[in-house]
Amino acid sequence: MLYNDKVMFSISLRSLKGKNLFREVKHRNSPQGPKIIIDGKEYINFSSNDYLGLANHHDLIKASRLAMDKFGLGSGASRLICGGSILHEELEKKIAEFKETESALVFNSGYAANTGIIPAIADEGDAIFSDEFNHASIIDGCRLSKAKTIVYKHKDTDHLERLIRKTKAKHKIIVTDSVFSMDGDIASLKEIYELCASLNLYGRGYPAPTNCLLYIDDAHATGVLGNGKGSLVHFGLKPEPWIIQMGTFSKALGSFGAFVAGSRDPINWVLNTARSFIFSTALPSCVIAASIAALELIEKKPELINRLWANRDKAAKGITKLGYNIIESETPIIPIKTGSIKNTLKISQSLFEKGIFAPAIRPPSVKEPRIRITVTAAHSDEDIGRLIKALVTKM
Ligand SMILES: *Cc1c(COP(=O)(O)O)cnc(C)c1O
Repeated sequence: MLYNDKVMFSISLRSLKGKNLFREVKHRNSPQGPKIIIDGKEYINFSSNDYLGLANHHDLIKASRLAMDKFGLGSGASRLICGGSILHEELEKKIAEFKETESALVFNSGYAANTGIIPAIADEGDAIFSDEFNHASIIDGCRLSKAKTIVYKHKDTDHLERLIRKTKAKHKIIVTDSVFSMDGDIASLKEIYELCASLNLYGRGYPAPTNCLLYIDDAHATGVLGNGKGSLVHFGLKPEPWIIQMGTFSKALGSFGAFVAGSRDPINWVLNTARSFIFSTALPSCVIAASIAALELIEKKPELINRLWANRDKAAKGITKLGYNIIESETPIIPIKTGSIKNTLKISQSLFEKGIFAPAIRPPSVKEPRIRITVTAAHSDEDIGRLIKALVTKM
């Protein structure tokens, strides 16, 4: 087979289409927000992770403009080659304060963070224990690591403990989403925390070395759980030296990029060894400025998060009342179980025709197809009312 053999791709594409797994990009002609315009028509948008409606917030845009005036656009190089500005440093200080950790480091995206950090902290001879519903970027990070990856049943801490006890490894690293991105349920972090603490051979005292590390992906918890501070605060847990937290600026914070927060040494280790940090150009300062503004905003305006949760409860109640199964949703991510791939596409299309944008989520993103509704603080009561109404006709 030649590289320029188009036949190979057309056969593969046809097979995707045959299985209803072919995907297409839709082009929005408006800012990201509760209402978006596609092909000249307005839709109520229940598809974004812009949980607090900050993606088009004037504070973020203003901060970004000012930074653009001062620092220009491109960064020109990776951080270690001097692509970063003093704003990068300021954001890292802010994140460490926000997370109550010694240190923090900015990554270019959540995907880059997970695929860079996991191989950096889990090496040959180590074992990674990963929840079966973890995000694709975690799965890819595990694949890039030389450590052995062992998958435990979704949220099953007993299964996790059994696997940990029977596995011999130099270091054991538990990796979990705190909010699962396609199911909207929350990890059993309290149990995992206790397990991890009790398994640390050398006790809990810092700076004694430990052999059990907990890596938490707070992508959907940042700005959403624990007054916006994330899953540890939600559960009333301390950021122990054996915990590394990752989160994103791209979802509730309405900006772009990601961070890792933890004790000084592990973060410094990540800075020195994570390839996605070392070998990728720094984020533009105007993006960093927007992330700083977003952090300031959620501390200044707790009503944003209250509004998000009030909207979430209203939507979840309304959808459940219609008889739909929202699986185990506990957060603004509300999946609706829809059976076959074909039916899921049909429902998504029918909602689209009624002016509601809610995407069909199919394998390989999930095992069971679903419509994934995400509610934000920016939705009005009327928006949520229209969603419920569009769902009334039994599908
Ligand atoms: C979205 C997401 C990421 C990736 O973050 P990006 O900034 O979009 O690259 C990582 N982990 C989880 C759980 C996510 O949902």
